[in-house]
Amino acid sequence: MATYLDDAFWCKIPAFSQVSEDEFIDYKWQIKHSVCNEPNLIKTIKDIAPDEFIKAACQGFSKTPMAVRITPYLLSLINWRDPWHDPICKQFIPTSNQLMEDHPMLRLDSLHELKDAIAPGLIHRYAHKALFLPLDTCPAYCRFCTRSYAVGRDTNIVKKVNLPIAPQRWKEAFNYIESHPELEDVAISGGDTYNLSAEHIKAIGFRLLQIPHIRRIRFATRGIAVMPMKILSDEKWLKAITSVLNLGRQLHKEVALHTHFNHASEITSITQLAMNQLFELGLVVRNQTVLLRGVNDTASQMQLLIKRLSYINIQPYYVYQHDLVKGVEDLRTSVETAIKLEKNVRGVAAGFNTPTFVLDTPGGGGKRCIHSYEYYNRETGVSVYTAPAVKPGQYFLYFDPLHSLKVEIRAAWQDPKKREEMCSEALKEVIPVP
Ligand SMILES: *Cc1c(COP(=O)(O)O)cnc(C)c1O
Repeated sequence: MATYLDDAFWCKIPAFSQVSEDEFIDYKWQIKHSVCNEPNLIKTIKDIAPDEFIKAACQGFSKTPMAVRITPYLLSLINWRDPWHDPICKQFIPTSNQLMEDHPMLRLDSLHELKDAIAPGLIHRYAHKALFLPLDTCPAYCRFCTRSYAVGRDTNIVKKVNLPIAPQRWKEAFNYIESHPELEDVAISGGDTYNLSAEHIKAIGFRLLQIPHIRRIRFATRGIAVMPMKILSDEKWLKAITSVLNLGRQLHKEVALHTHFNHASEITSITQLAMNQLFELGLVVRNQTVLLRGVNDTASQMQLLIKRLSYINIQPYYVYQHDLVKGVEDLRTSVETAIKLEKNVRGVAAGFNTPTFVLDTPGGGGKRCIHSYEYYNRETGVSVYTAPAVKPGQYFLYFDPLHSLKVEIRAAWQDPKKREEMCSEALKEVIPVP
């Protein structure tokens, strides 16, 4: 039987030592006390974190593509004696000395979401499913956000594309979906649907469910991982989700929640209570993990995460190979690492609780099973994928992080001519000679 952290764990943080359980479990208190700037971070951890860490974190704030935002709940789960190796700290707090040079093939909008968007915040890449981004904020910001081109406040190094909460903009998306009868699935992401009001959840959910050809919708939120107390204390929000779920049930359409946990230490007894509530409502909850170096890139970490999620009725759905996004090379792993992990994970849980390891190809080929490459050169780190059902006839290249390659090869990537050669070598292996 799995047991989850259930004491008043936040009291270990001096800044929260006087906080009662009732306060801590109140989502409004969590939002109000979230840390978004350097002075607040210092105030919260100055007595418990090593000085060098605090210094590096403050320097990190100005060098990251993502604004910082972290909840008291997450801050309480970090091991401040050794934040450098803490799986939660690594995901949310940038430190200057972690940062590594970007791969020369890296682009800000790696997945071509801006190019594949048919209206601001609506991406129609797969024939039968669409991705709708109604907002661009989250209850906490992951350093490695794949949508760092849009999500969160502008930072020193990235001026963001705005996808604000704007029912007028949404209308355009709904009209498009309505006029494309081939669409069956809509994923509502962002940003994070936790940050939509109850009224907006209902407006979006009802509108989409009432389109005859839409069969399934899912709301994406990292919230259950970063602030599970909202499920327990924001009655209006939960009621809104429930009413969308109930309309879906009446219409025989699926309404699901897709969430995002990366490490077992993000799961506590509060998560379990929140999940029990959602399970009693009959809401399907699936998880999408991002494979992160030093966070969940060992077999034991990934196995434990999958078992713990399954235990509280969260279905592990995907493990993503880290996208080629700016400023987080330290968190990327090679394709080889993902392949090894997948082998070690399969067989640990029920088959339906075993995640598919996918790579979302740069250039908009979509998600591919990590094992399905046409070619993979472990020396240069170049892998080639095809997506016959999405973009037939095209080839998509992914690049392992430089730190996973030999020194000579790393140097070769800095040379534009050799770079070109390494890419064409890979393509020569897969493109049939006419
Ligand atoms: C991931 C994604 C979807 C949903 O894909 P599933 O494999 O069904 O989870 C839809 N559209 C876009 C653009 C996506 O990236």
